[in-house]
Amino acid sequence: MDNPVYTDITIFPVSPPPSYLEASACPPHTEAPRTPPPAYTPGSFPPSYNETMPVPVVVVQPTAALADHPTATVCPHCHCQVTTSITHKPGMSAWSTCLLLTLLGLICGFCLIPFMINKCKDVHHSCPECHRHIGIFVRT
Ligand SMILES: [Zn+2]
Repeated sequence: MDNPVYTDITIFPVSPPPSYLEASACPPHTEAPRTPPPAYTPGSFPPSYNETMPVPVVVVQPTAALADHPTATVCPHCHCQVTTSITHKPGMSAWSTCLLLTLLGLICGFCLIPFMINKCKDVHHSCPECHRHIGIFVRT
């Protein structure tokens, strides 16, 4: 029986490890080749600001459409969110109804009925805070 033949196989190269200073040293600084910035051409970048500045837009909040009842709206005078207070006053609708009743022969006070019924009168809205007039709901 023969003994196996061993051969000396060196996997790693036999060299001393680097010293601490060699291992922890920063790699040598190599400066990147410098490229000059692109040439400036007027009007390309940044964009020109020769245009006129935009005019600020004033937004006027429209008041809610007034109805024949107290309406929640913003008072244009005191800018408060209010529910309008209303008063009924005879308008064109009441007068035209009165004229119509008169032409129909109802002259013994019956022609005055439109002035007593709120549904025939215009509605005047006012602000309960500043007591100023806001608008009129006109009956047609
Ligand atoms: Zn007001």
